[in-house]
Amino acid sequence: MSIISQHDQQLIKKEFDALLDNLQRVTTRNNKDKIRKAFNLAYEAHKGQKRRSGEPYILHPIAVARIVSEEMGLGTVSICASLLHDVVEDTEYDLEIIESNFGKSIASIINGLTKIPELFDHKSSLQAENFRKMLLTLSDDIRVILIKLADRLHNMRTLGSMPPHKILKISGETIYLYAPLAHRLGFYAIKTELEDLSLKYRHNKVYKQIEKQIQLNKAKRINEISKFSLPIIGKLNSSGLKYDISGRPKSIYSIWNKMQSKKISFEEVYDLLAIRIVFESEEGIPEKTQCWNIYSMITDIYLPKPDRLRDWVSKPKANGYEALHCTVMGPQGKWAEIQIRSERMDEIAEKGLAAHWKYKKNGTGEDSELEKWIKKIKELLEDSSSDAIEFLDDFKLNLFSSEILVFTPKGHIKSIPKNATVLDFAYEIHSEIGNKAIGAKVNRKLVPFSYKLRSSDQVEIITSDKSKPKQEWLNYVTTAKAKSNITKSLKSEISNRIERGKEILEKELNKHNVKPSSRVFKKLLPAYEVSSKDQLYSMIGSGIIKLNDLKKVLGKKSKSKLVRYWELSFGKQKSQVQEKTNNKFDFKHPFLLHENPDNPGAEYSLANCCNPIPGDNVIGYRDKSGSIIIHKSDCNEAVKLMSQHGDRIVSARWTTHKVLSYLARITLVGIDKIGMIRDITEVISKQLSVNIRTLNLEVHDEIFEAQVDIYVHNTADLNNLILNLSKIKGIDNVNRAEITTP
Ligand code: MN
Repeated sequence: MSIISQHDQQLIKKEFDALLDNLQRVTTRNNKDKIRKAFNLAYEAHKGQKRRSGEPYILHPIAVARIVSEEMGLGTVSICASLLHDVVEDTEYDLEIIESNFGKSIASIINGLTKIPELFDHKSSLQAENFRKMLLTLSDDIRVILIKLADRLHNMRTLGSMPPHKILKISGETIYLYAPLAHRLGFYAIKTELEDLSLKYRHNKVYKQIEKQIQLNKAKRINEISKFSLPIIGKLNSSGLKYDISGRPKSIYSIWNKMQSKKISFEEVYDLLAIRIVFESEEGIPEKTQCWNIYSMITDIYLPKPDRLRDWVSKPKANGYEALHCTVMGPQGKWAEIQIRSERMDEIAEKGLAAHWKYKKNGTGEDSELEKWIKKIKELLEDSSSDAIEFLDDFKLNLFSSEILVFTPKGHIKSIPKNATVLDFAYEIHSEIGNKAIGAKVNRKLVPFSYKLRSSDQVEIITSDKSKPKQEWLNYVTTAKAKSNITKSLKSEISNRIERGKEILEKELNKHNVKPSSRVFKKLLPAYEVSSKDQLYSMIGSGIIKLNDLKKVLGKKSKSKLVRYWELSFGKQKSQVQEKTNNKFDFKHPFLLHENPDNPGAEYSLANCCNPIPGDNVIGYRDKSGSIIIHKSDCNEAVKLMSQHGDRIVSARWTTHKVLSYLARITLVGIDKIGMIRDITEVISKQLSVNIRTLNLEVHDEIFEAQVDIYVHNTADLNNLILNLSKIKGIDNVNRAEITTP
């Protein structure tokens, strides 16, 4: 064991004292003692170890603990875990020692942190793989991720002493994985620092150049900002507001990023003025109102650019960010971006999580977006039935994809990951809404479950107590929450069905005084064409196998029952849908009076382009042979004839329409459900004097579209039928359609 030099000892003491002096959330002596104890153990464990820079290793855990405490605002457990975070991995101390000294929760955080490899392999695909593992440890405690983030931040701050190939790997991983993570968690300052550090190590030349240019432009910029701000300051002062106005610093990375993505020069990026106003909130007035008041004062002076207004006050960003952003036309026609924030919002923007906790303690009430997000993660993780690895794959997607905003029917805004479907949305509202969904409307139109939501869609979920998730739903969802809920429900549904089927079978067997022995199953399985007991139970439980013929099955070797089954369940429906051929057209009957005094008894026929039926407005067209063809008056063909051969048109109207049937077509759109065909055919056949000729049905993604050709006597019959059909539950739309001749 090597001896620690006097100099190093002083350095360590100084850093650890700074940690203790700046504790924000730790107040009790007991907790401070705990932190000292953690430090002492870490100190002993890392004794003699040095970082690459030559510093004693213990300075690293202390620095991580300070980030966790001072920059993230976490408490005792996290600080202790940070101090101990490399002990198990890098020293001879093991988890048992940690657990016996500090308890389960600290030990489980350390365990999580130890599982995350420090360095990623050179193959880029492994980055994602390892990141997934890192998220896996989230399941123990979200603090694992926060400490890992702090660990990374300190490593980035001290990256210079690493060998070059490691520098590139670590900074690459930082920009792809850790900076977005920090952003998502609302740690704006940490995110910005990670981005800048990463750029500094990956593109050092560019970084230095931008840094230099910022320096060169500094004086000019300050001048511009004060010129722009002066009138605003005057106005804000006269209103008695307490505030701070400043030019918003742009990070080197964000300038570089804009130069890259917009292909513009430094000057063009930097030219845009960016101002931030942070005000001291006045008690009794909602902060939202105060933001808009300031906005109004500014736009009294400068003209706003309407499409650049961003209201993160009414609806905070998913990571909790709140502010009002606008762009106005400054003097000399220069655009200026202005951010308006209260002090509270400003702190949230800079510190994220830490500030949220602080303000929650002060009793600001309502759950913040960030807490909702963390709650959401926890909900999923606590659901032990969801496959952790599968879930985390989805979770990673959620983490990096941006979100879109959609509306509920009542106008509430919900944020949902990009590419989410209406079914995802249903689960997003509540797992029960998802489980009971039978359909969805987007912008008041029925859509399939697979419909991908677009920003500002208005979404309504239609539910039914009888509905249950189906296997194919898994194809329609993208969010982890929806997937795990559907899987869970399917699993319990299957086991319920098996349970139910088992009960039914045993009861039925009992009636015949038969015990459910393997000998019996040898008869039952082939008879019902199933391969296992569970399958048999499940099919009995769901009512597919009816057991009406159980006695026969038990009594003798039976042939395949499958054929009989099909006959049984569909025989009845088939006869209902069958074509009725007893209603034939007979044009000879005098049901039409065409008001042509010259030719009262002329022959006529019905045009097959529009198939008019009694009740329709009609006109007649006299062809060369003198017979009259009856069209609907709004029929395209008739309109054409009227314009070309006006002299051959005769007016006509229906006189009697009691006896005959006419072919008409209606289309139905609705949500597919069991028994839908039965419901439709029942309504149609119940109505006197209406008969079905054909019924075509198409189902896709739970939406069915049907086309029914029917014989009706007149439009009154038809309208009546349409009315009755539209009353069927699940039917969304019933319309009369044109019959196009083949
Ligand atoms: Mn570390």
